[in-house]
Amino acid sequence: MEIVCPKCRKPFVQAVRQQGILDRLRHWAYLHPYGCKICRHRFYVMQWGLRPSKLPMDSDQYRMRPVSIHGKILYEQGHREGDITELSMGGCMIELPAALLEGTMLGIRLDAFDDEPPIIVEAAIVRSALGTRVEVEFLRLANDEEGRLNRFVTSLWLEGTQIARSSGRWKPESIRST
Ligand SMILES: [Zn+2]
Repeated sequence: MEIVCPKCRKPFVQAVRQQGILDRLRHWAYLHPYGCKICRHRFYVMQWGLRPSKLPMDSDQYRMRPVSIHGKILYEQGHREGDITELSMGGCMIELPAALLEGTMLGIRLDAFDDEPPIIVEAAIVRSALGTRVEVEFLRLANDEEGRLNRFVTSLWLEGTQIARSSGRWKPESIRST
């Protein structure tokens, strides 16, 4: 069953975390909170005995981490090469040779792993653009691509922990189990 946003009718929705006691009560009625990536509308979907399988949109993996990888940006008018400077499960920051307009729909190939083909983001949208630096939100990834992106983003978090640890800033409570 494809879930669409009840407000804008777009299929780019994702499970989000429960908020407050009402959401916990709804959980017992199999009502799970979802968020729309296009219009930000929050709504509930009834799923009998089923828990949303995807990582909630507001977990740590959705916070941007600094990164330095190459990306190929595909859009209607052609394609461009860009540098990805920040990355999360939900999107990325890209430095491009020329500006892109807010709201532009994109496809992205991320050269994340040296020894694997690029991670393919099927659909993404330019959320904000500051000159040649654009913030992009991912709308759709194929299932196995989501797993590979999660593996890469998790490695960024582990790397960051190691750097913080060697500089003495690391604290055990900064690691959260998922
Ligand atoms: Zn919507």
